[in-house]
Amino acid sequence: MKPNKSFFFRTQKSIVLHLFGVCFLLGTNSCTFSPIQKINLKPLKVNVDWEKRNKEAVKILQDILKIQSDRKNEILVAKYFQSVLAKEGIPSRIYSPPGKPDHANLVAVLETTNKTQEKGLILANHIDVVEADPKEWDVPPYSGIIKDGRIWGRGAIDMKGMAVMQLMAFLELKRSKIPLERKVMFLALADEESGSKYGAAYMISEYKNLFDGYGWMIGEGGIAVKGAITGNSTVFNIQYAEKGNIWLKLIAKGQSGHGSTPPNEYASLNLLNFYKEVLSIDTSIKITDETKGFFYQLGSVSNFPNSFFLKNASNPIFKPLLSGPIRKNRHLTAMTTNTKSITGLHTNEETTGYNVLNGEVVGKLDIRVLPGTDTKEYIEDIRKIAKKYSIEVVIFDEISPDSSPIDSVLFQTLANVSVSKVENSVAAPFLSPGKTDNSRFRRIGIDAYGLIPAVLEPTDLDSMHGKNENIKIENLKLGSTILFETILQLNGL
Ligand SMILES: [Zn+2]
Repeated sequence: MKPNKSFFFRTQKSIVLHLFGVCFLLGTNSCTFSPIQKINLKPLKVNVDWEKRNKEAVKILQDILKIQSDRKNEILVAKYFQSVLAKEGIPSRIYSPPGKPDHANLVAVLETTNKTQEKGLILANHIDVVEADPKEWDVPPYSGIIKDGRIWGRGAIDMKGMAVMQLMAFLELKRSKIPLERKVMFLALADEESGSKYGAAYMISEYKNLFDGYGWMIGEGGIAVKGAITGNSTVFNIQYAEKGNIWLKLIAKGQSGHGSTPPNEYASLNLLNFYKEVLSIDTSIKITDETKGFFYQLGSVSNFPNSFFLKNASNPIFKPLLSGPIRKNRHLTAMTTNTKSITGLHTNEETTGYNVLNGEVVGKLDIRVLPGTDTKEYIEDIRKIAKKYSIEVVIFDEISPDSSPIDSVLFQTLANVSVSKVENSVAAPFLSPGKTDNSRFRRIGIDAYGLIPAVLEPTDLDSMHGKNENIKIENLKLGSTILFETILQLNGL
């Protein structure tokens, strides 16, 4: 995952603080809804000693944090997992792309007991990490050291910690000898931090049939955050969707000449005017049912009057009031609008003088669109504007937005089980502006949801891709329990 540092914290805190400034007395309470349906969770038939199991989880996480799999060496983590699985009698297979033996993906499956037709569940993680500069860290980043009730090391949260939670839940299914109505796959993927070419993309293009019969996935992309709204409340942000990408290269051509006598139109001016017009279109805030649900859940753990405004985010009376706070927060803006970023503006000026108008100028645009937006139509609209300025548009990359339903049994069960484990908590549907591997699996028909089921504090979030990454030991236990119990509930116990 490529997280925005403190994303959840800043987003949630910001909206609440800003709404403080828009307290108006309005007489009506509009129709409100929670996106989470209350499920009566069934009592568990198995009793797991998670305290004991967590000692095992801690050892496994420490061991794999010691493996320096920073964009490489995933094979060593995969082989470690393979040996753990083998001890429990669970076969697994490692898949590496040709010529890339160190980038390894591991697949292990627990089959159904009586060949039912229920769709299977994939527990997906990635076993590569980003780099760590030891000079910035208080502890060696590949030590797996335990200090202050936490395990420290690159990948402790993103995402070896979750890989271990998933592994513990997976092992427990086998150990408990529970009859399975759905097959369950443990899927450890390579190369996520570098674009997934040797990980999810490779597995889907070369071994798509492995995923036949699976309908659900739990991966990364969301997280639980404590204390961002009021006091001790916790929000489990469950990712259900990701925005689409449109990456465009723009080639502006025009008359070259002398800077002292500029013509009315020339390449760099055309590109700037084009950018100005593109930035001026489609700027409205779009609040979908899922976004309403996100705000509603934040409202449910906020104090009045913020609770009132947040729960009524979709009310046309309040929408204008909400727009101000949203626009002041770049994360909320990204969640509610189609964004355009100017990521390139190259005039070749380093090789020419101050007095030269270059005949060709190149630009780059990074456009991110919300679910429900057609990327092809969007590109056509951009092309029409480009034509006015004699600009050629070249598509570098185009990925449609994707989403999974929030009324699915998996989403609702994961939300209910999570909330049942943490006092004063709620779950909320979360839209990622960036990309995870979930997106690739949604494209092959799997409903994928992102939740690292650990309760983090703002400083923990800062450590992802940053310095001093660590996870509380109790979070490992919490995550393993949530995943295991979610699977049991889905399994009909
Ligand atoms: Zn990640």
